[in-house]
Order: sequence, then C-alpha cells, then structure tokens
Amino acid sequence: MVLPDTVISISDGAFTRCFSLYEVYNLSESLRGRITAGSTDFGGVAHYALTVSDGAPGGDIVEYVTIGNYEFARVGDNWSLIAYTGDETSLAFGSFTYGFRQFDYSIGGGVFDSESAVESVRFGPNVTGVRSYAFSGCCSLRRVDLPSHFTAASLGDNAFGGCGALFEVYNRSSLDIRAGLYDNYGLGWSSVAVYTEEKDAPPGVDVDGFIFRLFDDKWYLVSYSGTSRGIIELPESFEYLGSEVNEYTVRPYIMPNMTADGFIVPKSATQISESAFVTKRYARAVLYYMGSEAELSNAFGGWYYYTAYFYTDGCVHEPDQWTFAGGKVTTEIKPVEGERITETEPTCTENGWDKIICDDCGYETSLYVSALGHDYKDGVCTRCGKAAEDRNGEDHA
Ligand SMILES: [Zn+2]
Ligand SMILES: [Zn+2]
Repeated sequence: MVLPDTVISISDGAFTRCFSLYEVYNLSESLRGRITAGSTDFGGVAHYALTVSDGAPGGDIVEYVTIGNYEFARVGDNWSLIAYTGDETSLAFGSFTYGFRQFDYSIGGGVFDSESAVESVRFGPNVTGVRSYAFSGCCSLRRVDLPSHFTAASLGDNAFGGCGALFEVYNRSSLDIRAGLYDNYGLGWSSVAVYTEEKDAPPGVDVDGFIFRLFDDKWYLVSYSGTSRGIIELPESFEYLGSEVNEYTVRPYIMPNMTADGFIVPKSATQISESAFVTKRYARAVLYYMGSEAELSNAFGGWYYYTAYFYTDGCVHEPDQWTFAGGKVTTEIKPVEGERITETEPTCTENGWDKIICDDCGYETSLYVSALGHDYKDGVCTRCGKAAEDRNGEDHA
C-alpha cells in the first residue's frame, strides 16, 4: 500500500482485518514518521505490516518465498509465515531453510482464518511467536501446543481469538493460560482443558468418525471426521473401558469444513453448543431432535438458529415434527383421518368445534364448524326462534 501525499488522515477502522497488508509506503507529508508497524492507529493501516517506510517502494527490503505449502515474507532479517496452502489438519511448524541457511520466523496475522481446516498446531524452536490474529476465527482448531520458549511477547493480541472449537492447550511455556478464563491471546476462553504434558490427557474415543474426549469425568463430542453425509446421526451411546457412556456435551463446530443436510441429535447430547452444527460456509443446519421442544431447550440455548424438528413416534401431524417412516427421516405432514366427534354444536350465531382422532396414532385435532346463520320462516328463525329484524326487509325469509 502506498499512501500518497494527498492523504491527510485515515479514519478508524479503515483497514480493519487487512491481514495481508504487509508493506506500507507512507508518502503523506501529514503522516510522515507517525505510522508504525503493528499499531492500530491510522485505521490500522500498519496493523499487520511487516515494514513501514517513509519512502517509495524499491530496493529488496521485502522478499517473498514459497517453500512447499508455506509462503514466507522477509523484512530485513525478520521472516514471517504469511500463508499456508496445504490441506494438512495437524501442523508442526518446524525449521525453515532457504539458501542453505536456517531462519527463525513468526506466524503472521490472518494466516489461518475461518476457511482453514487446521485442527492441531505445535510450534518448533524456530518459531519466534504468533502474531496478532494469526488464527483469528479458525473454528476447526481444537488443539494448541505452546513450546517452552514462548513468553508473553511471543503471542500477539487475539492470536487465537475466535477459535471457538479450541478444546485443549498443551502449555509448556510459562504463560498463564487457564481453561475458561479470558486472556489476551484467546487461548483460555474457549478451551476446556489445559495440560502441561501430553501424558496428562486421557485418550479420545472414535465412534464411527465421531471423536469423543473425556475431561474431568465429562464426555465431549469434539469433532466429526467420518464419511457419512446427508443426514448425520450422532451416537446415542458408546463403550469406554467396558461401560456405557450415554451422556455428553457437543462442542462448537464439530464439522466446520463439511456439509450435511441435517443432524439427528439424541437426548444423550445433554449440552449442545450454539455453534455445534455450523457447517461449511455457515449453511443453516437442520436438527432432528430425538425429544420434545422443551427437552431441546434444556440442552441447547441456541437451537432457534437452526431449523429444528421434534420427534414423534406416531405420524407427523405438526409442522415441527419428524419421525422415521420406512427407515427414513420424514417431516411430511399427514392429514388426520379418523373418527370425527362433535365437541360443540354450532348454533345460528356461534361457531362449533369437532374433534378428529387419528386412526393410526390417536392424535387429536380440532376442526372449526362455522355458525349456521338464522333460518327464518315467516319472520321467525326455525332453530332459535329469533324474530327477524325489519331493516329494509333484508332479514325476511
Ligand atoms: Zn396419526
Ligand atoms: Zn336462529
């Protein structure tokens, strides 16, 4: 970005989230010397900048290098990872060799965003730090390993901000990261478990692609990586060390990079995160809940963001019901056919109601019967005896 001399000021937020704005050339007389790399001032124009210069672009200050799936940029002696184009979900950031020399580098802002599929990251000795917003909104990220050489200066603000699915942090550094508590980097807030060593964590259980994790005697469904598509049925229970687990929490974003037509959710999912069923491109998922609306409300504060159907073991007679018919999910409403019983007879002026009871499932529905109107003969209603009013002769039979 070249700021020409005609620029005299920059409004707040003008360059918000411009993660790839690495070079800023400031030719503005009014802003000369006032813009610094990493600052959010002047609209954040240099928030993610690797270099800010009070001169025109030129020379070889900045260099871009692609090594395999990794793209790096150099400013002076400082290298940063600026993009990852591979599709590996578990990344160990190792050494970076270029021109027969090994360089240290940092992870740049916005490299892993909501489109990223990375689930687990660890940082080798060559990684000096993680810059602001490096993993911003990366909702597939579930595990972060912090190395012992990281300090507070190694992590930028919100380096892991908005990583809603983050489940566990292996913190070998001296940083104070606590599960469920806010920190500047966004690591503690979403996470459930913070360990210092790998051996501290109980193993996961894979139930046909559903990965369950145990922490503090509670089970969590953290992800789905199975092959089932269309309508995906969450496990009702599973075995662990010879006993049956039939109660679990569904974590946010169990499959943010996949698509599904819907989810069958058992009652054993007793706690469900609001963003649990957010799928690729934030498609609106359909929930087929195995219980009633009241039961889902107990488990899930956010189900109204989804289209939810509630289970009936009879026929579907309501617009928010679903059932299995012929081994398939159906929401198709079946008209109530069966015995018709008069609840309230209609009169000349009042509506009546009939009740119909479904022959198949016993479901009852009411049917409105409109008022009959008066039946005048010689100026008097034959049904209720009311005299016709003589108003323009209209009511005379
Ligand atoms: Zn029925
Ligand atoms: Zn009448």
